[in-house]
Amino acid sequence: MAIERTFSIIKPDATKRNLTGAINDRFEKAGLRIVAQKRIQMTEAQAKKFYEVHAARPFYGELVSFMISGPVVVQVLEGEGAVLKNREIMGATNPADAADGTIRKDFAESIEANSVHGSDSLENAAIEIAYFFAGSEIVG
Ligand code: ADP
Ligand code: MG
Repeated sequence: MAIERTFSIIKPDATKRNLTGAINDRFEKAGLRIVAQKRIQMTEAQAKKFYEVHAARPFYGELVSFMISGPVVVQVLEGEGAVLKNREIMGATNPADAADGTIRKDFAESIEANSVHGSDSLENAAIEIAYFFAGSEIVG
């Protein structure tokens, strides 16, 4: 498999509980390299645009409020098959369905406050990375 880059967010429920390091440890132990990272307070406009694909879903408003309820850590992860690998490390959206040893199984509070975001395709990864990072901020 090829070396890929994927986009990751450590969500407000996790930054609040001081889990940034514990989550990063999962990525690094699985062979993903953090090639860009910054802690930011997302604006409402940024969160709305980022989750625009879910705009018609009943949880959209609450999801946007949650994502701006505290700081997040946005990241670029690099490695072999990084997009799929990160989705595996994260686990299912609903922590109740997430496999043992995944980030969401071990850390998520609910289906909404589920600790991490990860791109679902290589195409979306490129779009999401460009939304938060300049090329010069990514150092492989
Ligand atoms: P994933 O983050 O696993 O790719 P989705 O793209 O389907 O999941 O949803 C985006 C985010 O929206 C989820 O990570 C979660 O924070 C929130 N979410 C998804 N489904 C629900 C739901 N039924 N109720 C509340 N929040 C949800
Ligand atoms: Mg998704």
